[in-house]
Amino acid sequence: MKYISTRGDKTERHFCEILLEGLAPDGGLYLPVVYPKIDAATLAKWRGLAYHELAFEILSLYIDDIPPADLRALVAKTYTAEVFGTREIVPLRALEPGVYLEALSNGPTLAFKDMAMQLLGHLFEYELARRDQVLNILGATSGDTGSAAEYAMRGKKGVNVFMLSPKGRMSPFQQAQMFSLQDANIHNIAVEGVFDDCQDIVKAVSNDLAFKREHRIGTVNSINWARLLAQVVYYFAGYFQATKNDAEQVTFAVPSGNFGNICAGHVARMMGLPIRQLVLATNENNVLDEFFRTGTYRVRSSAETHETSSPSMDISKASNFERFVFDLLGRDAARTRELFKIEIDRRGAFTITPDEFARIKGYGFVSGTSTHADRLATIRDTDRRFGVVIDTHTADGLKVAREHLTAGVPTLVLETALPAKFAETIVAAIGREPDRPAAMRGIEQLPKRFEVMPADAARVKAFIAANT
Ligand SMILES: *Cc1c(COP(=O)(O)O)cnc(C)c1O
Repeated sequence: MKYISTRGDKTERHFCEILLEGLAPDGGLYLPVVYPKIDAATLAKWRGLAYHELAFEILSLYIDDIPPADLRALVAKTYTAEVFGTREIVPLRALEPGVYLEALSNGPTLAFKDMAMQLLGHLFEYELARRDQVLNILGATSGDTGSAAEYAMRGKKGVNVFMLSPKGRMSPFQQAQMFSLQDANIHNIAVEGVFDDCQDIVKAVSNDLAFKREHRIGTVNSINWARLLAQVVYYFAGYFQATKNDAEQVTFAVPSGNFGNICAGHVARMMGLPIRQLVLATNENNVLDEFFRTGTYRVRSSAETHETSSPSMDISKASNFERFVFDLLGRDAARTRELFKIEIDRRGAFTITPDEFARIKGYGFVSGTSTHADRLATIRDTDRRFGVVIDTHTADGLKVAREHLTAGVPTLVLETALPAKFAETIVAAIGREPDRPAAMRGIEQLPKRFEVMPADAARVKAFIAANT
């Protein structure tokens, strides 16, 4: 399998060439040249597989530059019951008839980003050793991504992580999760500023090409193809758990921000997994719901981006969305480039034509928005009726899922985090603290390891230089 850019760069690249990269050189995103099609016989064969075996089969279709025995071993040591809590890895839990939660958040940081990031950690270590290289990952986080990256990369050979976060602005739990890591290759930098200051520093450092090259600076952001690919697996795994035979269809409901998770669902559907609908749920930052309702994609400024109680979906611009639009437009790279480069840069928005808009139906997408009041009501209702406490993002997914149910078609709502991460809103909804997994009890009391720094790119560079 080779990979191309959504903006027309015709150089075809292998998986390991794009593994450590972000954007393609022309500013586009990488996608496989074609989506491998899964026939009925293959689907039937996969039904009985353990999660890591299923992951190996799917990844093998997209990765031809890692020897199969090595890939099998990497996947087997990633998806274990020790790391993800159960043998199923992504177990289903039934709510009302026809509605299930698919648990993606039982990894080390209690959010679904572990599903992909844990694999990325092993892939990076493997590929860097093979090339005899090191990589210094620089990132900015306000929560889930940073901790998932640190737990995936801790102790990995050849990798250092420098993670910037706004000092005092993460929840005590999130802060404890990250700052309690004592691994020598993990560096937490608490920046005296807000999240945007952290992001600006990452940009400033990355734009210093000489520094970037000399210190081998890389990222692990959500546009990385390997992350998306890892996420395709749990759509298949959820499907097999919810159905008895391969003539049945299911619908997935996905709380969305950067369009990474649901884009993996799109890929699974393009491969032939019988997905009837992909229900996209947003919070008050409804950039994507607006697009699927109107055909207009309008990015927001940071001033227009609301701080909500499902903070991991507080985005102004959906960084993976270009992948879907490329497919929607019949893989017309010139048109994709026109929309994302010319139109977005010039006026921050684009509108697809009525013909193009009409094609969305064929891709199974529908959407909706959930607000803070919806979130509280959904959390409370789910606790009362089923005795199940869900997190705020999952609540957004469930609320919108219920607006798109089809009789006879199971709906799987992707549970993207555990409620323990968002205790304040859970208490507001149900009047008591959510349970915490045993390993996370009392983490606020653990010794912390972090550096405090002013919002100054030069200081961050000096710190990186001194620690690599
Ligand atoms: C990142 C995240 C999301 C959004 O996922 P995207 O892939 O960015 O759409 C939803 N819920 C939680 C808990 C997250 O951490």
